[in-house]
Parts: sequence; C-alpha cells; structure tokens
Amino acid sequence: HHAARVAGWSGPGRTADGVEVAILANVADGASARAATGQPVEGVGLFRTELAFLERADEPSVEEQAAIYREVLDAFAGGKVVVRTLDAGSDKPLRFVSHPDEANPALGVRGDRIALAHPEIRAHQLDAIARAAEESGARPWVMAPMIASPAEAAAFAAQVRERGLVAGVMVEVPAAAILAPAILAEVDFVSIGTNDLTQYTMAADRMSADLAALTDPWQPAVLHLISMVAQAGRGQGKPVGVCGEAAADPYLACVLVGLGVTSLSSAPVAAPAVGAQLGAVTLDVCKEAAAAALATTDPAGARAAAAAVLASDE
Ligand code: PEP
Ligand code: MG
Repeated sequence: HHAARVAGWSGPGRTADGVEVAILANVADGASARAATGQPVEGVGLFRTELAFLERADEPSVEEQAAIYREVLDAFAGGKVVVRTLDAGSDKPLRFVSHPDEANPALGVRGDRIALAHPEIRAHQLDAIARAAEESGARPWVMAPMIASPAEAAAFAAQVRERGLVAGVMVEVPAAAILAPAILAEVDFVSIGTNDLTQYTMAADRMSADLAALTDPWQPAVLHLISMVAQAGRGQGKPVGVCGEAAADPYLACVLVGLGVTSLSSAPVAAPAVGAQLGAVTLDVCKEAAAAALATTDPAGARAAAAAVLASDE
C-alpha cells in the first residue's frame, strides 16, 4: 500500500504531526516549470537560469531574459519561486561569458564569481528578474550560486535589495556552511546545494563515476555541515532550504527535515515519494533519524541508521 500512498499523495508537504515543509521543483525554463505543475509541488526552489541560455552566443537582452523569467513566475503564480543567478562555468560554460582557460574549472571563475570580470552581466540579469516580477505581480526570491564568504553574500544582497527583491545565497562551498551565522546575517534566506557541497567537502568531482561512493549525499561529513547551516537559520529565524538531489531521496529528505531544513527542492518527479514519506513520520522521528545518521561515519551506515528509525515508525 506504500505505492498507492505515493501515487495518491497530493501535497502540501508536511510531517505526520503537521509541521509544514514546502516541497518544491528544480526547473530550467518555462517549459520545465509548466511541466512541474503536473506534480504535487508548491513552487520552484531552484530555477537554474544558466540552463535557459546554454545555446546562446550572445548575452540575451534584458527584455528577452525577463520574458523567460516571467514564464516561470507565471507557471507558479501565487507560489514561491527561487531564481538563481547564472551559475556559469565549470560543467556549465556559457558562450557569452568569457571563461578563462583554467586547470581546475570547478575551483575557478564560476557561479557568482563571473561578476568579478562581468559585473554588468549580473546587473542586467537582476534588472530582468525585477522586470519579470513587476510584470507578473510576483515577488521572487533571488539567490547567487557558489558564494564562499559573508562579503560576497553582502555584495550580492545589496544589489538584489536595490531592486526590491528578496535576497539569498546558495550554501555549496564548505566555507559558507562553516560561517553560516555570518552568511545568514547578510541575507533573507539560504538554500543548500548538496551536489556541490558534497563535491567540495569530499574533494571529489561530482561528474566522476569512479568517485560515486565519495559523492554519496549521505556522507556524514556533509550532514554535519547541513546541520550547522540549519541551526544557524533557526537561530536567526530565516529559511534554510535544500535544492540538491539529496532532497529527492525520501529517507534523506526526512533526515534533512530532522536537521532543521525548512524546504526541499529537487527534480519534480521525486515529489510524490518524498511527500508521502514525510507525511508518514513526525518531526520527532525525523530528528531521531537525523541524530542516528549524524552518529555514523560512512554513507551506508548513515542510510541504514536513518532507515531503521524511519521504517519502524511508518
Ligand atoms: C547543487 O550544487 O546542489 C545545486 C543545486 O546546484 P547545481 O546542481 O546546479 O550545481
Ligand atoms: Mg551547485
């Protein structure tokens, strides 16, 4: 009957004892956002804007960008939409951004760092997001990828707020997790990118099939960093989401909630299974599963420890 429960789950996200946890979609453009509305998601937790422009030789105009952003805002009118500024470089080079020839592009000028050489690209994008927001009557949250320091977070947030938008950053560099209280003090929210946070914590390329055991999102070291960020968010009363694929694993999603994460965003197809699992357990059980996972030293142990708590309580 578990399969029937998954198929019938229709949201909104909440634990068995009624604690609300928004279950959101990762999208790439208007078409994928409209497709995501067919799943029981309450909004968009990560709009990867760079994916809308991978084929472009020239920077799209503010008008063109605004039209694309508006498609996503309109798909989830009245719902939450988190727009990420361009995460160009490394595995997602953009032709209209001149990327330097780098020996280690994952450690290079990528994500928010492209604003070092191209501040106008970020300014144009924020103008376009503000225009889309005004036209659609939405109030999107806007976040930067690859933030490594509170100063970077502060500089980004100032530009976002100048345009009347809600400012956040991704936590996907271990330094940002370690200084989470100082990062959170600069912004309105954070979202943890577990794909890159795992890659950088474990010093293991997320694209390498040979290193898949190291880049397992159940790595206890990564769970400890997530716990630090969630506790910092709780202390300041600010939302801490997860938008990496860790949020697509039903048991891991419960562990994330137990660690204090307030929203879960992943491939929209994962929403029914995540929502059904979360609805089967209380927040206290999620906390117990999180504590059990944190007490282990390897991913298989973390998964088994959490599963033992969660499965016995469904
Ligand atoms: C992440 O790093 O977890 C993330 C959500 O961003 P991306 O996968 O686009 O790098
Ligand atoms: Mg990332």
